[in-house]
Amino acid sequence: MTHYRIGLQAHNAIAFLTVLLLAVTCGSPPAGRVEGLKAFVGARLIDGTGADPINDAVLVIRDGRIESVGPATQVSVPEGALLVDLRGRTIMPGMINTHGHVGGTRGLKTDDFSEENLLRQLGLYARYGVTTVNSLGGDGLLSVGLRNEQETSALDRSRLFIAGPVVVADTPEQARIIVSENAAMGVDFIKLRVDDGLGSAKKMSPQVYKAVIEKAHEYDLPVAAHMVYLEDAEALVAADVDFLAHSIRDELAGDDFIDLMSARQIPYCPTLMREVSVFAYESIPEFFHDPYFKLEADLELLEQLTLPDRSAQIKNSESAQWYKAHLEIAMRNLKALSDGGALIAFGTDTGPPGRFQGYFEHLELSMMAEAGMSPMEIILSATRNAAKAIGRDDIGTLESTKWGDFIVLAENPLMDIENSRTIESVWIAGNKVASKR
Ligand SMILES: [Zn+2]
Repeated sequence: MTHYRIGLQAHNAIAFLTVLLLAVTCGSPPAGRVEGLKAFVGARLIDGTGADPINDAVLVIRDGRIESVGPATQVSVPEGALLVDLRGRTIMPGMINTHGHVGGTRGLKTDDFSEENLLRQLGLYARYGVTTVNSLGGDGLLSVGLRNEQETSALDRSRLFIAGPVVVADTPEQARIIVSENAAMGVDFIKLRVDDGLGSAKKMSPQVYKAVIEKAHEYDLPVAAHMVYLEDAEALVAADVDFLAHSIRDELAGDDFIDLMSARQIPYCPTLMREVSVFAYESIPEFFHDPYFKLEADLELLEQLTLPDRSAQIKNSESAQWYKAHLEIAMRNLKALSDGGALIAFGTDTGPPGRFQGYFEHLELSMMAEAGMSPMEIILSATRNAAKAIGRDDIGTLESTKWGDFIVLAENPLMDIENSRTIESVWIAGNKVASKR
């Protein structure tokens, strides 16, 4: 009889485990499991605050947000949580691209603003670990809709914030009208350009961009400025701009400017891969052979990008060659501003044709390392500092009450930032992002 009972208990235990396993594979929680409650255990955890990584961490997510996080000795796994064993892995916050574009690009075309295409891009960013994109210009009403519906624990694609149409105006009056229209549309940022196309175009005058900044601030909206030259960056900062959307590329910034950028913590977004994209297709770029790139690449597009005519055009383009020659200055400015305590906001300007969303973010990380930033500095620029740069306090770090947006890596990115490419899974609001196939 006793023997029989033990046998039955053992049998029950096996049956229970089987149900548990089936539930894990089928997705329906068994009795005792709390819906929306997950505990990620055993990993090394980089929380994005700049603190030392936590070994053997417990990260508890309830209904999309972080309930508790810390070492296993201090944080217990709540009853009913789905356990995800991540021993040997590293967790870091999802990357935030503070200057991307989620718009009409499909291959070389730029006019497909369908919701399907926008969601495709947000899925692509997500699979590469970019869990938030600040789309700086060219955004329409469909993007507003997507932005409005993402405050949900069911989210499993990248978060989107938008600037709407870029402000293009000849007079302060015109500029104010466009800012008001964008504000009414519900944008998160106002974007303007101060650029003479290397001497080939008319640059927005200080009078006009001052009107843009003033009007945007009336609506409490931050202004991001595209610029190329140090002189313009200095003037924009003096005019109270909130975000420098590219590297200073013409000359090295002086100490006074670096001190000012540091004191005011105005985000500086390097977009080094934007520079690379301008000249990269003058020949077949090395990354075309990278399996991590080919995972998502459209082979037909790669062929089109490097057709002989196109490559020759880039080789002969004065502007493309200017940007190529000035990339080094951009990288030296990045290092000087980073060392000087400026707020470096990770950003790539991906989205337009040939600027590959998701993959280029990983190349940008490598270029920031090449510029001389440490892995921790680079990670901070893509997590806590990026969140700060776009005015979000509910993402960017893995701390209690923030959204559960994070990446699971096979290798430690603090050892080598290229380990960002060893993504095993991406989680947004605690939901696993589906792989491509
Ligand atoms: Zn841009």
